[in-house]
Amino acid sequence: MRSIARILTPLLLLALAAVPGCGEGEQDAAGAPVARGVSRPSGPPGALWDLVAELRADLVAERSPSDGGGRVWLEGEGETPLTLEAGSSHRFAFVYEAGPLGIAEGGALFMSVPPFWGWSPAQTVAPASPGYTEVSAEAEGVRLEVRTLDPPQLLGIRIGGRALAPGERIRITYGAGPAGAVVDRYAERGEHFRFAVDGDGDGVRGWMKEAPVVDLTAGPPGLLVLTLPSTARPGDTVDLVAAVLDASGSTGRAVAGPIEIRDAPAGLHLPGRIDLAPADRGRARVPVEVAEPGIYRIQAETVDGLRAESNPMVVFEDAPRLLWADLHGHSNYSDGTGLPEDYFRYARDVAALDVIALTDHDHWGMPFLDRSPERWAEIRDWANRFYEPGRFVTVLGYEWTNWIYGHRHVLYFDGEGQVLSSIDPEYETPTQLWDALRGRPVLTFAHHSAGGPIPTDWSFAPDPVLEPLTEVVSVHGSSEAADSPHPIYNAYPGNFVRDALDRGYRLGFVGSGDTHDGHPGLGHLVAPSGGLAAIWTEDRTREGVLAALRARRVYATAGPRILLFARLAGQEGGSEVPLPAGRSAELDVRVSAPEPLERIDVIRSGKVVHRIPCERERDVAVKWAADDLEPGEYLYIRVVQADRRAAWSSPWWITGSETPPPAP
Ligand SMILES: [Zn+2]
Ligand SMILES: [Zn+2]
Repeated sequence: MRSIARILTPLLLLALAAVPGCGEGEQDAAGAPVARGVSRPSGPPGALWDLVAELRADLVAERSPSDGGGRVWLEGEGETPLTLEAGSSHRFAFVYEAGPLGIAEGGALFMSVPPFWGWSPAQTVAPASPGYTEVSAEAEGVRLEVRTLDPPQLLGIRIGGRALAPGERIRITYGAGPAGAVVDRYAERGEHFRFAVDGDGDGVRGWMKEAPVVDLTAGPPGLLVLTLPSTARPGDTVDLVAAVLDASGSTGRAVAGPIEIRDAPAGLHLPGRIDLAPADRGRARVPVEVAEPGIYRIQAETVDGLRAESNPMVVFEDAPRLLWADLHGHSNYSDGTGLPEDYFRYARDVAALDVIALTDHDHWGMPFLDRSPERWAEIRDWANRFYEPGRFVTVLGYEWTNWIYGHRHVLYFDGEGQVLSSIDPEYETPTQLWDALRGRPVLTFAHHSAGGPIPTDWSFAPDPVLEPLTEVVSVHGSSEAADSPHPIYNAYPGNFVRDALDRGYRLGFVGSGDTHDGHPGLGHLVAPSGGLAAIWTEDRTREGVLAALRARRVYATAGPRILLFARLAGQEGGSEVPLPAGRSAELDVRVSAPEPLERIDVIRSGKVVHRIPCERERDVAVKWAADDLEPGEYLYIRVVQADRRAAWSSPWWITGSETPPPAP
């Protein structure tokens, strides 16, 4: 539990609008009936009752008219908004001007430095260190008491001596020392500094509506990413997507010069080089004519010596179409990075995804999405504007961020829907959520279900229509099983997806990033694990994708585009396989991976029953017989690369039947 608290602490800063003031020692959130330290002996695993109590208390906390008053701006910066390079240092001069009600003696002003991705905490004790902050009042007789609070991204400035009168100012220089203040390592537009005011000194603060904004741009080129579709047919023209990114995976740098294609495969026709102009912002889409069957990987190198190889593309007559999807991620409209528009653009033009969903939190991050209908409308509009049926499928969504029963993201495949908030007593249990969504083109997905920030309460059986799938892997790690590569942190034994299958739930597997760094589809670039969903469908529309997901024609990867064809008794993963008791069935597996393969594991009814070594080959085809299968059993396979990144087929469920299985 201690490590959960550590993870949550910086998040709490954004989540809570009413928290202890900066006065003497520990305070309770004044006016807020918070049940601190109450732990319930029973209930869902890992349930955070206290956190939910605090969120609810905040909703009803009484605020005085002076809370959140005044205005604040960044002084002396010519351009609007201020634009800086990710990871650089800067000196920020803020001016706060008290509003018509001023700030009472004993009241306070708060500055929140963005809590994610490397911003220096604001501190007042070490002038030579990053984040050193100087604060002064332009008001005679006002004494300021300044301290870094917990979490350290929050600076509290207590007003003493007398009240701060309307129009009087406080200057805050963040990064005042020689080291400045270090900014976020990821590029993004619309990063904001939040300021709050406790105007009457009762310990409850209100956040100011306006927040100074900075834009962060990508650093110098550090990565080249090349992406091809995973399958194609002779005669197709497909896109090779090339992206020059900075070392943290951010896009947008104006880079010029050629990317040379090396040893272009004979069965493909493509230009020998890609000429990037500065206006391309490091992104290019190049047509590739597919002439011959085969397995292809394209290699290229930039003028700066960045090299890359694409994912494998397998070409044969009538090859089925595979779409790559990231169905879960966040923008800075909750606690992620960058604007919704940039999230969709990155998914399409950098990560070369076919399907993308943005799923910001309902009641987490700031301002809360469930209290910001205009922001939700903006997200919906961007999702619908980026939708190009037949080419690029976008899905409207949000995350039901439930701290008792676990998180689920909700996807609206018709581009319309509401934020049914997990904090709302009408939608606070999984059953209430499903009841409200029933009959609509909607799916929900339990995620980081074994642990991480909060595990899933599997005592609620997933609704078979609304939740036929589950997210087994993301940047949090794998929730598949304890013996999985990169298992999730804070795992609860007995709470893995494999345990859910043992309960008899029929869940297909997807991965998705849950990225908070503005890099949907590429969460694994700078993390040990990411997540993608592979979807088998010929129909590249919202309807086609929904139908494939409902039919569980999917598999999961931890990010890399591992191509996995797997059949049991001729049936795709995610199928029910009718077999009389005691029969055997042939498992037929073909894999083409970006990296050398270590092994293929066969999991049967709760256990790894067979392990096939792959001798570091990247293209592997194997057959194996599963004997004495009984109705009620399930099987799935796990493919592990030498770099410990994996792919998981959806399970097969053996159903009793006198009917012989269809011929393979
Ligand atoms: Zn979550
Ligand atoms: Zn999430």
